[in-house]
Amino acid sequence: MKRIIIVGGGTAGWLTAGTLAAKIKESCDMGPRITLVESPNVPIVGVGEGTWPTMRNTLRKMGIRETDFIRECDVSFKQGAKFAKWTSGADNDFYYHPLILPQDFNHINLAPHWLDQGAGQSFSEAVCPQEALCELGLAPKLITTPEYASVANYAYHLNAGTFSKFLQKHCVDKLGIEHILDDVLSVNSADNGDIRSLSCASGSEIDGDLFIDCSGFKSLLLGQHYQVAFKSCKDTLFLDTALAVQVPYPDENSAIASHTISTAQDAGWIWDIGLSSRRGVGHVYASDYCSEQEAADKLRAYVKASGADADKLDYKKILIQPGHREKFWHKNCVAIGLSAGFLEPLEASALVLVEMSAQMIAEQLPANRAAMSIVAKRFNKTFSYRWQRIIDFLKLHYIVSKRDDHDFWIDNRNKATIPDSLQELMELWTYQSPWHDDFDHAAEVFPAASYQYVLYGMGFETQASFLERSESRRKLAMESFQKNKMLTQQLVQHLPTNRELINKIKEYGLQKV
Ligand SMILES: Cc1cc2nc3c(=O)[nH]c(=O)nc-3n(C[C@H](O)[C@H](O)[C@H](O)COP(=O)(O)OP(=O)(O)OC[C@H]3O[C@@H](n4cnc5c(N)ncnc54)[C@H](O)[C@@H]3O)c2cc1C
Repeated sequence: MKRIIIVGGGTAGWLTAGTLAAKIKESCDMGPRITLVESPNVPIVGVGEGTWPTMRNTLRKMGIRETDFIRECDVSFKQGAKFAKWTSGADNDFYYHPLILPQDFNHINLAPHWLDQGAGQSFSEAVCPQEALCELGLAPKLITTPEYASVANYAYHLNAGTFSKFLQKHCVDKLGIEHILDDVLSVNSADNGDIRSLSCASGSEIDGDLFIDCSGFKSLLLGQHYQVAFKSCKDTLFLDTALAVQVPYPDENSAIASHTISTAQDAGWIWDIGLSSRRGVGHVYASDYCSEQEAADKLRAYVKASGADADKLDYKKILIQPGHREKFWHKNCVAIGLSAGFLEPLEASALVLVEMSAQMIAEQLPANRAAMSIVAKRFNKTFSYRWQRIIDFLKLHYIVSKRDDHDFWIDNRNKATIPDSLQELMELWTYQSPWHDDFDHAAEVFPAASYQYVLYGMGFETQASFLERSESRRKLAMESFQKNKMLTQQLVQHLPTNRELINKIKEYGLQKV
């Protein structure tokens, strides 16, 4: 393995390049050279502003200073997602999917004990401090907390456009990645069917040993060249169109929400992501249930309600084909990012998959062609599992809803649209709360805690099980609820607001790790 070629300079391309280069630099002196070729004519998709906490480790491992990243990519801190109007559609209907695990989650399952207590606090409020922090717009750390460390677990909201440019600069200047601006026009094959080289518009030919397809929805290498089939999941996840808009704050000191706000609509939902200098807002909807005009009207009304002049803004339309390739690594080509597939923006699951894919390639980088087939086989098995788990988790949000005000919500609960794997889990969870053993892999994208937050946030009922019923378990649970209450009180008193912390970081920076 002498040369790795990455096609595409969006977030997927640069995150992959940086992750591989940092790992190679750390592990050996004479590793493969990495080249990233990107079209000067095809723009990046330019959306994708919500992330998972994994991004902290991804950036840290690449040698990026968190202070630089926050200052240059319009970043704010994200502590989870608030889902409004997803359960009944009423004005006061909301729940949180926070980023902190329920209190003592590795020792005790608090869900049955919370269910026993009956009404009162919401599930997320009872087991974790983050709902309270988000409702107050607080930050997840202090200015004295070192870079990437947290007081409350967090991810980021970021500007997708500036992020890929920021990564590009770091990858080229600090990690020695070769960057070529050119249009890839065709693929040249070797006798064994591998990709030998790429021919570009400038007339140059780029040869390599491993080709990573980060060419976005075009899927230039895996989709167009190799014709690896696309597995649509539109029968399960109905959304296929997004309208996105950038909304200014009323003034430069306006509060920044500490979470992604997701507000359900008649046939989809609106995302609202607060960056440090503006909000990113978008309506993602199912065109089978809602016209573009209706979707645009709803988005404008939402933007107007927040005080912005909705008629003066530019709206961008993006078509989505929910689904993924049947496999992701074929011959000497592996697809990462939109070229591998995309489901929908709910729960920001795309970038986390990019990070996990790049990480697995970096950890298992085949030394030569002979080792590649077995690595590819394992990669395909792992990621087929992960895509299916994510499809299940996203669908969960729609099937627990009790909304019946629109066919979109009613059809979402039709059994024929629910994967068998999810139906089986739903049946299990009628009798016992989600727990670690319900899943096959140790490193799940969405762990049992995420399922608990969604299910119980949406009022799902689990019948009393004989498990967890002893007096000693009950006592332990009460102690955990109490611990969470104390922790919440402490954090609420000491944490600054999201805006205050961002301003301080811009002025003074965070302590280096
Ligand atoms: C509406 C919407 C909302 C989203 N929200 C989120 C979110 O909140 N969180 C999240 O994690 N993800 C989200 N995503 C997904 C996220 O945007 C993508 O995963 C991420 O931006 C990575 O995109 P990419 O790099 O794969 O593709 P792109 O950004 O499209 O980049 C493709 C690259 O390929 C290059 N290219 C294309 N053709 C050629 C050629 N012939 N020769 C050379 N280069 C070429 C282009 O120049 C470009 O550099 C969202 C996606 C959509 C559609």
